[in-house]
Amino acid sequence: MLTEDLPANDFGSRVELALSATNHLFNARNSARYVAQVLQGVTAVATKLERTSRPFTGVEPAEMLERVGAVDLETPLPDTAAALQELEEVYLRDAVYFHDPKYAAHLNCPVVIPALVGEAVLSAVNSSLDTWDQSVGATMIERRLIEWAAQKLHLGGSADGIFTSGGSQSNLQALLIARNHAVASLRQDPTRGGLRLPALLENLRIFTSEDSHFSIRKSASILGLGFDAVVLIPCTADHRMDPAALAAALAEAQQTGLTAMAVVATAGTTDFGAVDPLADLAALARAHGAWFHVDAAYGGGLMVSGRYQHLLDGTHLADSVTVDFHKTFFQPVSSSALLVRESAMLRHITYYAEYLNPESAALAEIPNQVDKSIQTTRRFDALKLWLTLRIMGADAIGALFDEAIDLAARVGALLAADDDFELAAPPQLSTLVFRYRPLLEGRERLSEDAADTLNQSIRAAVFASGEAVVAGTKVTGRHYLKLTLLNAEATLQDIAGIIGLLRRTGAGLLQSEVPA
Ligand SMILES: *Cc1c(COP(=O)(O)O)cnc(C)c1O
Repeated sequence: MLTEDLPANDFGSRVELALSATNHLFNARNSARYVAQVLQGVTAVATKLERTSRPFTGVEPAEMLERVGAVDLETPLPDTAAALQELEEVYLRDAVYFHDPKYAAHLNCPVVIPALVGEAVLSAVNSSLDTWDQSVGATMIERRLIEWAAQKLHLGGSADGIFTSGGSQSNLQALLIARNHAVASLRQDPTRGGLRLPALLENLRIFTSEDSHFSIRKSASILGLGFDAVVLIPCTADHRMDPAALAAALAEAQQTGLTAMAVVATAGTTDFGAVDPLADLAALARAHGAWFHVDAAYGGGLMVSGRYQHLLDGTHLADSVTVDFHKTFFQPVSSSALLVRESAMLRHITYYAEYLNPESAALAEIPNQVDKSIQTTRRFDALKLWLTLRIMGADAIGALFDEAIDLAARVGALLAADDDFELAAPPQLSTLVFRYRPLLEGRERLSEDAADTLNQSIRAAVFASGEAVVAGTKVTGRHYLKLTLLNAEATLQDIAGIIGLLRRTGAGLLQSEVPA
């Protein structure tokens, strides 16, 4: 609408609104307001922290829906204080708090304060890491951290990589590179080289263990290969990929004319924390000309561990590695990286846009990170890790993860000695998979089917109580409970307290069952 079409009074009020709106802009004139308002927000969180003594309130979705739905988004509140007060009702009071020792569900970590300082700085300055002309020092800091991580993983002098939004995205980018690398070879074939891409994807296969992360299958689907292009390799009893089974599957694929596009190993599976036999798998991948990707979204933190670094042995043989800093480096969401052994491989995902990153810029060696990323506008997440390393140091981060791993071992011993629980496997990193399956009066165990129902009910009841948050998973079709420990301040008593709560809840549910 043209301004002259507006009634005079409406025009006046809009000008006034724009004028007062400029008071909310982050700039030199408003710097005092910026400090005061951010401080109000930080103080609200700190106050919450001091007054919260459980991980969750147990609120139901319907109640949250109603409270959030009742907010009138057309009418702003008078000030920040009022908005923060409202936020208490619609978010802060009932959020799930990962710093609480009785939060032991998923791979969410308590975060370190230096990273929160980084978060405050990076969102205010708001650099975007796609091009040099939007980032400058930020690009160099990101590159330096990629170099640092690649060095810790012994990927060699040609390594490179990029920060991403998470492990799923890192895995997707790794498999996109692997796919395009395989397609580039297929294009050399004079009889098939001229075919359109979908035809060339037909015979590509990805090999990964049955315990690998679902993002591998999801990536295969996104990349146009289909879920069924992923060949799931069985694990040995310790939940690590069985190299003999992989060898057999690769041989079979070869015989039937399929192309082994990639072998994806996991360094720290989401449920059992198992690290696949990396060196053996790398050798098989190499023998079949397949890309070797290591998904270390969970186990990546081992690279700075004082006691368990050796568990990553063999990662140096990878063509690419996923590391989630927002899991075992105690960083806030999001912060992840994809590392590649050969920087030249990143060309498989490089596209030039005249308005943003023209090829001439690459030729002039202007460092445009978008050349290496599947995102365009991208957060300066690297700053959080940078300040963490500069304020705490890498060893301190490793020490936090080591504590969690040691705690898991002690909890594992507790559970193994407890007649009411069955431990699915000894802990390998910092998870415990187990179920409540007590001996009944006749001294026989609760049936498998009854244990299935009971353990799901236990988890739901404990979540509803808000006293603890635990996860659940399935092992060979049966329901189990899962603890993921990442809190170095949680004590054995804290976790024993969760186990006590699970036992009391289970016993209570068994007792209240009406006999059929
Ligand atoms: C968590 C996890 C992922 C996915 O990472 P996001 O950051 O949640 O996207 C991938 N692989 C493994 C082994 C994981 O544990």
